[in-house]
Amino acid sequence: QKSTEPTVQELYEGVLKGDRSLLARAITLVESNAERHFQKSQQLLQLLLPHTGKAIRVGITGVPGAGKSTFIEAFGTYLCGLGLRIAVLAIDPSSSISGGSILGDKTRMEQLARNPHAFIRPSPTAGKLGGVHRKTREAMLICEAAGFDVILIETVGVGQSEVIIRDMVDFFMLLVLTGAGDELQGMKKGIMELADAIIVHKADGDNKLIAEKTKREYNRILHFLQPATRGWQTKAYTCSSLTKEGIGDIWKVIRTFEQKGKASGVFEERRKSQSREWMYSMITDHLHYQFYQHPDVKNQLPKLENEVIAGDITVATAVEKLFQLFLDRKN
Ligand code: GDP
Repeated sequence: QKSTEPTVQELYEGVLKGDRSLLARAITLVESNAERHFQKSQQLLQLLLPHTGKAIRVGITGVPGAGKSTFIEAFGTYLCGLGLRIAVLAIDPSSSISGGSILGDKTRMEQLARNPHAFIRPSPTAGKLGGVHRKTREAMLICEAAGFDVILIETVGVGQSEVIIRDMVDFFMLLVLTGAGDELQGMKKGIMELADAIIVHKADGDNKLIAEKTKREYNRILHFLQPATRGWQTKAYTCSSLTKEGIGDIWKVIRTFEQKGKASGVFEERRKSQSREWMYSMITDHLHYQFYQHPDVKNQLPKLENEVIAGDITVATAVEKLFQLFLDRKN
């Protein structure tokens, strides 16, 4: 098995050529939780780095049932029709909590999966060395080096995953459904303030009129909120992945956003600050990992935990002792 593992050089050349199988294996490498794979994946990323950054990175979120996978299928197929190459990645917040998966269970995006211009990668599972966040970010870079024009990153709208995706993408959109006014009121203002567009989805059939009304409601509220991107007014739009109405307009909005942001410098500025944030989050991840891997820390942690629970020592004392062990100081 080991002898068939491609070398860093083979992966590098394969990814640049857009070789599907080597692209998939390169992503598997960054997703691996084995330490030797970590070293190898970092060598690969270093080589690929000059070839990254050219795609537009788009994040998509929404509650389960909002129609994310149907939308990505319709939107992705539309983009492929324009001659663009699309990579779809996912962050599944459930995988890091329960080990299970919200996104991965059903058969999704079958039509897009068969399109030769599209590449769909299910969500990685969390592990040490930075977890899902790092893995998705690195998978995105690999896809960019492989020449994909648009990277779509999907997440279920629960909890922290929206913030994580916002920190990775250029354009972030929120898929919502038509609903009563109070439902809209209940929506977290914080999530609306992350979005560059709010898509009122399933605007078809009997739902069409109410979708237009919901759009106006959102626009009224958005008017009072802090925009997610400087110089860009977040607006609500309607679309249907069933009739495909409004799908092309969403792409126009993204293109306008990109052109405006590039002209004003906001686009580059965000990417730079994302790289900086990523560096600090990786430092935190590494410290966390090194600390818990330290043999003396590992060894003493259960005992100190028990002493804290029993009320024999303070939390601060226990932490101080662990750090002394970690930093190899004698107490
Ligand atoms: P996800 O959980 O957000 O990925 O949602 P799905 O893509 O699985 O869609 C949930 C349900 O909504 C499915 O039954 C879809 O057929 C339906 N759906 C998705 N998009 C549309 C749409 O544009 N119009 C209508 N009428 N139904 C849709």
